[in-house]
Amino acid sequence: MTSYDQIFENNKKWMAERKASDPAFFDKIAREQNPDYLYIGCSDSRVTAEEIMGVNPGEVFVHRNVANLVNATDLNVMTVLNYGIRSLDVKHIIVCGHYNCGGVKAAMQPVDMGILNPWFRNIRDVYRMHRNELNAINDEQLRYNRLVELNVQEQCINVLKLASLQKAYIKTGYPEVHGWVFDLHTGELIDLKLDFPKLLKDIMEIYRLTDDEIWNS
Ligand SMILES: [Zn+2]
Repeated sequence: MTSYDQIFENNKKWMAERKASDPAFFDKIAREQNPDYLYIGCSDSRVTAEEIMGVNPGEVFVHRNVANLVNATDLNVMTVLNYGIRSLDVKHIIVCGHYNCGGVKAAMQPVDMGILNPWFRNIRDVYRMHRNELNAINDEQLRYNRLVELNVQEQCINVLKLASLQKAYIKTGYPEVHGWVFDLHTGELIDLKLDFPKLLKDIMEIYRLTDDEIWNS
């Protein structure tokens, strides 16, 4: 367990190490940020974006919430996404879930969780959309794992519903959207290899927010 005071000791050590390996490090990060990656992950303390990706400060724009949801009425995640796409010009958007996600597990329990109900309803909606596949899985742990994956997939689709994403992708060919799952048991980062262009085309009949002709072909 890290004590409160230890945090500041750690910070001093980190500053010294960074300066030793690159004397201009803080000058560079103070100047601007130009990250290629936008990461949306779970708030879970065990799933830290930069560490599991092995990247440095300045390389990934991060948003985290319980169960890595992309909800159109959540001004926070919508601001991160629109700023990332329109101003930071990110090349990749990642939604990263994780097995053993407490938020996904809680949503599978038939109990009233008060103020948490509206948030978890998004995950229940994912279950409803995929209930035939999920109910066919007898093993509860495997069903839970699959819901984690399907939740990532649906949140990626929610990213595709943004006008800013559709317009940027048609114009420039990026950002690409990726779904990942982090396995706490092994430390492995798993790319679900979602077919992003196909997912985008599939939703266009209903969610199209641009009149660019590429989607007519
Ligand atoms: Zn989680």
